[in-house]
Amino acid sequence: MLGFILRKTVSEGNILPLTSTCNLRCIFCSNAQNPKGVETFFLPPLPLPLVRQLIALLDPRRKIIIGEAASRLTEGEPLTHPDFWTILAIIRRIYPKTTIQITTNGWLLNRTAIKKLSDMRPLEINLSLNSATPRGRWLLMGDRRASRVLEAADLLAEAGITYHGSIVAMPHLVGWQDLKLSCSFLQEHGAATIRIFLPGFTKLTLLALRFDPRIIYHKLRQFQKEQEAVSNIPLLLEPFLWEDWRGLQARVAGVIPGSPAESAGIRRGDIIKSVNGNPVKSRVDAFKRVYKSVHPCLEREGREFPVSFWKEKHDGAGIVMNYDLDWVLVKKARRVIRDHKARNVLVLTSIWGMPWLRAVLPEWEGDGAKIHLAAVSNGFFGGSIASAGLLTTLDFRKTLREIIENQGDVFDLVLLPGIAFDSSGRDLLGRHYSRLQCLTRGRVRIV
Ligand code: SF4
Repeated sequence: MLGFILRKTVSEGNILPLTSTCNLRCIFCSNAQNPKGVETFFLPPLPLPLVRQLIALLDPRRKIIIGEAASRLTEGEPLTHPDFWTILAIIRRIYPKTTIQITTNGWLLNRTAIKKLSDMRPLEINLSLNSATPRGRWLLMGDRRASRVLEAADLLAEAGITYHGSIVAMPHLVGWQDLKLSCSFLQEHGAATIRIFLPGFTKLTLLALRFDPRIIYHKLRQFQKEQEAVSNIPLLLEPFLWEDWRGLQARVAGVIPGSPAESAGIRRGDIIKSVNGNPVKSRVDAFKRVYKSVHPCLEREGREFPVSFWKEKHDGAGIVMNYDLDWVLVKKARRVIRDHKARNVLVLTSIWGMPWLRAVLPEWEGDGAKIHLAAVSNGFFGGSIASAGLLTTLDFRKTLREIIENQGDVFDLVLLPGIAFDSSGRDLLGRHYSRLQCLTRGRVRIV
């Protein structure tokens, strides 16, 4: 089973898992907050022969990702793997031109390590900083030697290695001043972008660590606007919620200084209408079109002339956008509705996903089907969790039952968000979605 998950993680996401071990103890680390029953795997450092086999499955045309959390695999710090540098050298030997992206807490990035990274380019670092103050780092990550990571950020910038900083925002714990200082630190020490995450908490999280997510999110939005006014470094707030973001318009959230997009005159706030003559449907759609193109030509709202620039295929242009809706999924859902000749369709989604899907109803109803949208609460994880990726069959079962009790078993197709399931159709509890089939006469499908 674990071997299957490892291979899938590599072949689907181009993510190379190395280890679940970590040298820090973050209070927001998802590893400690999962309710009983969640099927996760703790990876001791993977043996080198196995890593070699996984490396052979990587796709050289896509960015190779190391250190990123992958669905059922417990997250860890990749640099704690005893063979980390050997592994990196193997990857570079086999795939000399592919960009490697490493997510790290930065604690092991000393001068020698950064010199080695420098020799492995093309490469970029996601630095999980979280706080730039000794008190904040101690409270959030159990880090007693803050200077190590702060120095690492400086060394990365000095070596000219692109790095992106991230902060899990817990101002209710460390204070807003801490958040401000941490953002300023990244802005002043060479980060290409900054991502601020609103952390989630489950029903198992200690009461002292909980907060009102609506209030904090609203304040973080204000904070983001203030920061944008004083810096041109792109700053994203995640999750990206629908409220006050002007729907699916492909609005540029920021442009990386010195990038091809910046040289071409693209600026934060620009709204991209088309890429290479193709009208764009969402931010994700626009981003993907630019990403795939070598010489993208962009039309922007309110601008008379299009702009174009050169870049490598599958390289970033420097345009930073929030994640909204992948139009590939919207089209896939339409195809499934059509293939099933469904007239009455129930689409189950998460609380956060609901407003985005409302915006695509006309697309799905274009073939005459009647679509009923319903939001499913993350009852299994509880707390502040409201995302589709953490829904389970138990949550879908509860909502589906209630809807059928109220409206009757009238749907000839029930669609579930594919992100809640792995490639074999199993949720985080290891339960297959087909278990829901006995509740309804309609066909149950994932998209
Ligand atoms: S650095 Fe990452 S893996 Fe380590 S404790 Fe923090 S969140 Fe968890």
